[in-house]
Amino acid sequence: MTVRTRIAPSPTGDPHVGTAFVALFNLCFARQHGGQFILRIEDTDQVRSTDESEQDILRALRWLGLEWDEGPDMGGPHGPYRQSERKESYRQYALNLVTKGHAFYCFRTPEELEAIREERKAQGLNPGIKGDLELPEEEVKRRLDAGDPYVIRMKVPENGICEIEDMLRGTIEIDWSQVDSQILLKSDGMPTYHLANVVDDHLMEITHVLRGEEWINSAPKHKLLYDYFGWDMPVLCHLPLLRNPDKSKLSKRKNPTSINFYERMGFLPEAVTNYLGRMGWSMPDEREKFTLDEMIDNFDIQRVSLGGPVFDVEKLRWLNGQWIRDELSDDQFIERMRHWWFNEQALRDLVPHIKGRAEVFSDVAPMASFMFSGMLNLKPEDFSHNKLDEAQVKRVLQFTLWKLEAQRHWAKDNIFADIKTLAKAMELKMGDFMFAIFVAIAGTPNSWSVMDSMAILGPDMTRSRLRHALEVMGGFSKKETKRVEKEYAALLAE
Ligand code: GLU
Repeated sequence: MTVRTRIAPSPTGDPHVGTAFVALFNLCFARQHGGQFILRIEDTDQVRSTDESEQDILRALRWLGLEWDEGPDMGGPHGPYRQSERKESYRQYALNLVTKGHAFYCFRTPEELEAIREERKAQGLNPGIKGDLELPEEEVKRRLDAGDPYVIRMKVPENGICEIEDMLRGTIEIDWSQVDSQILLKSDGMPTYHLANVVDDHLMEITHVLRGEEWINSAPKHKLLYDYFGWDMPVLCHLPLLRNPDKSKLSKRKNPTSINFYERMGFLPEAVTNYLGRMGWSMPDEREKFTLDEMIDNFDIQRVSLGGPVFDVEKLRWLNGQWIRDELSDDQFIERMRHWWFNEQALRDLVPHIKGRAEVFSDVAPMASFMFSGMLNLKPEDFSHNKLDEAQVKRVLQFTLWKLEAQRHWAKDNIFADIKTLAKAMELKMGDFMFAIFVAIAGTPNSWSVMDSMAILGPDMTRSRLRHALEVMGGFSKKETKRVEKEYAALLAE
């Protein structure tokens, strides 16, 4: 048997460090066994998936040195490797399950489903949706002929225990009563994650599925689907979730989670990959610094420990420093710096802004230093302004942060539109609103167009600076955050 593993990202946002972490372990496992590592794009959510995100994910994984053997950009014997291009086949598989009696057409409206949930609750049953929604055959035929919208759902047992074998966790028991009669095919004809994932893992001959722990609850549905189709199930391995230093699940609200941020900050890809390799795993000799090849040579999945590994940017900085000091010659250092941001293209982006403001070249470094920095050294006084009080400054920063978190197409005009919407809704003059943004991003109100700066700095660095500025201003307590969230929702609803 040839070991085949895969990473299956959904291209709905920034390239996440969690994706890189799971990709790294899949890659090591495959390489260690002389197998193959596949990249598949799971873009069945057509509303949230973007090409931009897909490109970004591929680029970021490559930057980290995590190369795949088959994928959407290079093809392979089991292509296409993008689920939106495999749409028709999923439908056939769903219909096949209906024919075999393992799945059924469901015509219920959301209101009807809600009523059924309530009814089940009243009877003391788990409120999940079960196979008892099935209609008599003639009724199904009549409604299909009438062109009524439908979904296809899989049948799941009402009761009993489902046993899942996990490489790291042993036998996991999940009560069937907790498992819904999962939708397999949506009313727009697209498959859900569960159907597409199982069909593709089978067709792509995946032997081992290493993925995040958040998917454990999906495993019973997947197991049942493999049984229904009569296919062997790949070996499962649920890796621990990465955590913030406060032990909560790693999230972009608290920590930069995009690989692009680490690139923009000037981390070395080798150091980031090395650090990800330290997440729940260690070398047999416990050394901290190692290359990807060394990790592959020494890899043993059983050395993964399940206690939630903490992704701590400070530790990563320390490790990066080790890499810079020990591994880069002066020439390599210069080369890497150039490659990073001290290059011609970066200067080209800045020259139009600099030329109008500099009198001598020695003006350039001070006025442009914020474009080559990480977090700025801000003080609360930097935000004092005669038209904005502290509460307003904090709101400007927080609302902009939330608005830009939702911005999926990072471009100057879109950022401008977002900010204009907010300033108007808050009834603030654009100039006053922008003051706080200037200080957060450029460290001073006396800089060139901050929209241009944000566009160049990118979404992750922009958000991190806004978050940092908010922290400098004291942030919001948990209780305040609730209130401010409501204000924000009300503001945008107007
Ligand atoms: N598309 C899923 C994700 O975004 C894949 C989960 C899996 O590996 O099964 O993480």
